[in-house]
Amino acid sequence: MSLSIDLIPILQDNYAFLLTTPDGLCAVVDPGDAQPILDVLNARDLTLSYILNTHHHYDHTDGNAALVAATGARIVAPASEKERISGISFPLSEGNIFQFGHFDFHAIETPGHTRGHISFYCPQAGVLFCGDTLFSMGCGRLFEGSAEDQFQSLQKIRALPDETLVYCGHEYTQSNGAFCQSIEPDNKALAQRMNQVTTLREAGTPTIPVSLATEKQTNVFLRAKNAAELGALRTKKDHA
Ligand code: ZN
Ligand code: FE
Repeated sequence: MSLSIDLIPILQDNYAFLLTTPDGLCAVVDPGDAQPILDVLNARDLTLSYILNTHHHYDHTDGNAALVAATGARIVAPASEKERISGISFPLSEGNIFQFGHFDFHAIETPGHTRGHISFYCPQAGVLFCGDTLFSMGCGRLFEGSAEDQFQSLQKIRALPDETLVYCGHEYTQSNGAFCQSIEPDNKALAQRMNQVTTLREAGTPTIPVSLATEKQTNVFLRAKNAAELGALRTKKDHA
């Protein structure tokens, strides 16, 4: 039984993800804008039941209100963000499971980018929605958390199965990869991934999803051995 996942490019470089079960149950992850989501729902005659938010930033939540108004969808979001995300029906904390049809969505608390950030892991589909915690070959800026927070969050993601497909919130892959190559110029897997990414981008194709196995080989932030190393990389990237 498979979960269907559509990437919907929104705003400047964000992705929202439309999830559909074989029974026609439908959810959207991180709708930073409503209209592009409504267009897809209308075109495919789908009814939206749930909105999943990884964190409170506007580019992941600004579509919430209009989607709720248009569809009556209910909001699944971090329990700790009740003050900053309005109308949460299903507040999730570490280890909580949101039941989406026959699919379990495990909430993994991944603070660092924001203090309330969560990621959603669905073992049956083998997919992770990690918002702005982990990007392909990058990681989120530390707006509200420490390097230690982000390091622990990335370790939790690292512990998931290698074959997990990672769906992150932004198409930052090409510039992230260039930074990784400046740190690890001799990394062959990284050079290979960059060739693939260049080809994809030239064709206007998303570089997402990416397997966790590939990220472990290519993402210098995920490869950092400790919080100090991660913090130094993040600072360097901030000033790159
Ligand atoms: Zn963000
Ligand atoms: Fe974002």
